[in-house]
Amino acid sequence: MLVNGALIKGKGAETVKGRSAEETEQIRVVLQARFEDLNTEYEDAVAQNQKLRLVEIGDAAGDDQADSGSKTAERDAASSLIRTLLDRRTQAEHALQRLADGTYGNCEGCHKPIPAERLFVFPSATTCVACKSNRERRAA
Ligand SMILES: [Zn+2]
Repeated sequence: MLVNGALIKGKGAETVKGRSAEETEQIRVVLQARFEDLNTEYEDAVAQNQKLRLVEIGDAAGDDQADSGSKTAERDAASSLIRTLLDRRTQAEHALQRLADGTYGNCEGCHKPIPAERLFVFPSATTCVACKSNRERRAA
């Protein structure tokens, strides 16, 4: 892809040491906002899930088969949302920690700098695209 070719030759290939304090601060602000957003979403999802369960306990007695089936699906969707949000929140938190200790922007897999364009799109990324897909392949 043309975009990727430009990426390698472009500014994104510079090392993390090239990042100014101002840029680091910008990233920190973005990550912090992201972390807080995710935290709010996560807490909302947990509260929503608890409400769902209470309703469920409340009218379980009158349930027919189809009803309890759709509730199970609803509950599954809710718990997978909670898991996703928790994952993302942990990731943002982790990126903030790396920013604080100065390792932010370097891949956790191969230790090479992560292209700035990737960090721009995914500020909480802690691996490069290659290592991320390697990791996912191993996990699958
Ligand atoms: Zn890597």
